[in-house]
Amino acid sequence: YVVINKVSKSFHGTRVLRDVSFNILPGEVVFLIGPSGSGKTTLLRTINRLETVDDGEITVGGQFVGYQSSPSGTVPVRDAARSRARVGVGMVFQHFNLFDHMTVIENVIEAPVRVHGANRAQARTDARELLAWAGLAEYENHYPHQLSGGQQQRIAIIRAVATRPKLLLFDEPTSALDPELVNEVLDLMRRLAESGMTMVVVSHEIVFARHWADKVVFMEDGEIVQAGSPDAVFNAPDNPRTKNFVHLIE
Ligand code: ATP
Repeated sequence: YVVINKVSKSFHGTRVLRDVSFNILPGEVVFLIGPSGSGKTTLLRTINRLETVDDGEITVGGQFVGYQSSPSGTVPVRDAARSRARVGVGMVFQHFNLFDHMTVIENVIEAPVRVHGANRAQARTDARELLAWAGLAEYENHYPHQLSGGQQQRIAIIRAVATRPKLLLFDEPTSALDPELVNEVLDLMRRLAESGMTMVVVSHEIVFARHWADKVVFMEDGEIVQAGSPDAVFNAPDNPRTKNFVHLIE
């Protein structure tokens, strides 16, 4: 469903992604792991075209995020948010990035109404249903600052789900949380995975990855060092670099 083909990217002459290729099938949960600075976040952001690529291509469901065909070839679209909406990619950030001046329910309906053109009343009904599903119904009129980090991140996940994405990207979704709040977020992610959501997760939550990832991709210095089932990557790491990293974070 997602095809990442020979993607390279440099920042100021430093190559951050080198010829990265892999595919993601519908319903797969893919974990991107690796040392700090290995390019995981950059790769995630290129899938959503929060970053452009220098070389190679990424398609989601056969479409280029942020680009469209024109008589003069494939050209960038002006409105990347609309493009992400059309292709169906949602993202959850490390620091939640909720709209602070909006209540929970306003946060959740913002993109469906403004970007997807949904009817406001219908969007509210759908949002309430999703919040109830996530056990967050009682917070619909709260503002983000009135909630714990774990609650805020769960709202951020529901906000992304409300756009009915075909692919959800998570950038270190639990690393800004106090340890006791991590599980409630992982639990919601597990329920999404069980519901068949296609997910790409940058995270150091190895225990979660062992149980819930279909595929683990280990990156170092902008390259994929190893990719495969959690079992193949964690239990029998045939690559010394992967082995070393897994020992370090366990
Ligand atoms: P971490 O786990 O620390 O987030 P990562 O594997 O996600 O690391 P990236 O955040 O993708 O790594 O960063 C890879 C490299 O690219 C780093 O050296 C980083 O400093 C650099 N980099 C990332 N974004 C930019 C940017 N916008 N401008 C310049 N350099 C950048």
